[in-house]
Amino acid sequence: MADDLEVAIIGAGTAGLSARAEVAKLTDSYRVFDPGPYGTTCARTACMPSKAFLQSAHDFHRRHAFGDLGIVGAEYLRVDGARVLEETRLLRDGLVDGVLESMKPWRETHLVPHRAAFSPDGTLRAGDLRFRPRATVIATGSRPVVPEGWKEKLGDRLVTSDGFFEMGGLLARVAVVGLGAVGLELGQALARLGVDVTAFDPAPSIGGLTDPDLQARLRRALRAEMTVVEAQAEPVKSDCGGIRMEWAAGDTEVDCVLVAMGRAPNLEGLGLENLGGSLDGNGRPPVPAGRLDLPGTRLYFAGDAGPGPELLHEATDEGRVAGYCAVRGEDAVFERRTPLRMVFCDPQIALAGATWDELEHRTDSVAVGEASFERAGRMRLQRGSGGAVRIYAEKSSARLLGAAILAPEAEHLAHLLAYAIDRGDDLKSLLRMPAYHPTHEEVLRRALRAALELCDIDAAELEAIRCKDTPVDCETGRG
Ligand SMILES: Cc1cc2nc3c(=O)[nH]c(=O)nc-3n(C[C@H](O)[C@H](O)[C@H](O)COP(=O)(O)OP(=O)(O)OC[C@H]3O[C@@H](n4cnc5c(N)ncnc54)[C@H](O)[C@@H]3O)c2cc1C
Repeated sequence: MADDLEVAIIGAGTAGLSARAEVAKLTDSYRVFDPGPYGTTCARTACMPSKAFLQSAHDFHRRHAFGDLGIVGAEYLRVDGARVLEETRLLRDGLVDGVLESMKPWRETHLVPHRAAFSPDGTLRAGDLRFRPRATVIATGSRPVVPEGWKEKLGDRLVTSDGFFEMGGLLARVAVVGLGAVGLELGQALARLGVDVTAFDPAPSIGGLTDPDLQARLRRALRAEMTVVEAQAEPVKSDCGGIRMEWAAGDTEVDCVLVAMGRAPNLEGLGLENLGGSLDGNGRPPVPAGRLDLPGTRLYFAGDAGPGPELLHEATDEGRVAGYCAVRGEDAVFERRTPLRMVFCDPQIALAGATWDELEHRTDSVAVGEASFERAGRMRLQRGSGGAVRIYAEKSSARLLGAAILAPEAEHLAHLLAYAIDRGDDLKSLLRMPAYHPTHEEVLRRALRAALELCDIDAAELEAIRCKDTPVDCETGRG
């Protein structure tokens, strides 16, 4: 006998919890299915512990600038790898406790602590329980991709972000396979904490940075801290107990392999086919662009299990929209916010709006303005490592389309630019905004000016608003 439900939410991660909050506003007839562990991937093994770990690494790395700042004794600083990981876990545990606390009001009554899957008769099975939901939000997240056979071959010498923060200490030599956001962040953190890192990635652009100019700068910055091999490598267990990483042009011995080759959605075994759902060739639900539901079904997808970018703020948005629409039986059509993506390596990578790979086919209609942070005032004060900002604007109107930044604290500049893109601002209106001295925003202003010069519209001789441009009479002060 199956219980009728208004909404089933499969997965109690970020997207599932957001969906629940929306569903619970309208009905009590819902259940959240998840076997645990609870606390969200973000807090347990992803966004937060990775940034906590990176913080230790970046702070320790700052000692290289101490001499120039008149601070002595940096050579006596050392890293206690086990302690860095322990502190990371402590912080993580506090965050997970916060999530568990927020689940308390409904956990006893509405959480089903089992894996859920649809049966051929269309009922949702979870342990011994059966349900017949009118709508279902699939928010089952994703898992690290590991090539076939590697786990069996490498045993506990293979680690992914799932187990990384549980390590008892830092090993001397680590291979990082894959330089997307996860590989870059954890790889650089390890290198900065004194681990000998060899990173492998054959892709022409790493860190999601498709702008060729910034890509070259990123590679230069990374090579100063680790060995970067632009090739596919195969791990082989070596006779002396370690792992030999072999690639076409060489090999190297490591103690451990961190696999960061992307993530796959957790959609297998859910029995979606029993509800008319199917997966495309990439194992993703064939949800039309601008939607979260599969037409013809009442299946809504949110978070890493869905069609959108695998990012926390997108998972939150999608969960809310999916929950809102599922409980109302509506199609989940929605407009995403302006794209925003970051990697917290140093220099940081930040992308706002359209990216280079989306624009490169129309370079004759796109103006690209660039400015470097190398000799910028604030950068010199910080003894920082440079970088650049690239602004993409529509030549005909000077409308800002996108930006790619490789620079310390790029996260803040990228937010400013995302807001401007969202409002449809053009370069002229942005140049009317103030930039304090000495700040990184001064470099941004130079890039905006460089882009405006390439646009098909007149650049103002003076960016500042002249009195005669204002509605206020300068002589009398009256409006
Ligand atoms: C190392 C790392 C760092 C990251 N850093 C950032 C960052 O800085 N910024 C950012 O925006 N994003 C970051 N991300 C991405 C971000 O963490 C994810 O996009 C986000 O956590 C996805 O949330 P979710 O709700 O889709 O999945 P999750 O939080 O993983 O939730 C999925 C839930 O579904 C459950 N589940 C799975 N299968 C079933 C089933 N059959 N039945 C019932 N329950 C099931 C699981 O137990 C889990 O609780 C990072 C990711 C990683 C790996």
